[in-house]
Amino acid sequence: TLARHDPDCIFCKIIAGQIPSKKVYEDEELFAFHDIHPAAPVHFMIVPKAHIPSLAQATEADGALLGRIMLLAPKLALEQGCNPYPEGGFRVMVNTGAEGGQEVHHLHVHVMGGKRPWSRG
Ligand code: 5GP
Ligand code: ZN
Repeated sequence: TLARHDPDCIFCKIIAGQIPSKKVYEDEELFAFHDIHPAAPVHFMIVPKAHIPSLAQATEADGALLGRIMLLAPKLALEQGCNPYPEGGFRVMVNTGAEGGQEVHHLHVHVMGGKRPWSRG
């Protein structure tokens, strides 16, 4: 079974407050913070506090956790200044593995939005 916390993981350190971040949200099992290199006017990430390396390691037992992330995304998106659906909206993205473009190996859900054009994508 996987450790809940990886002492070498940058996102575990952010969750623990050992590395500063611009926090958007926190509860017992989730943490959200702004991306240090935003690819859109609004760009934050929602992460489980438990160290799951990627979506490829999520199991049936993580189903409710993943569902909570998906339902939190639209709430936080509006709070962070994304415009309302359908004219506004936001993008949810989970890079997984090297070919999926994943650079940090702690599961994270990108939420991006705001007026276009964006700097990337
Ligand atoms: P990935 O490519 O793994 O999906 O995305 C990792 C994201 O984490 C990147 O968009 C990158 O800008 C962001 N990131 C990497 N290191 C840090 C950090 O120390 N603080 C914050 N806030 N974001 C980070
Ligand atoms: Zn971690």
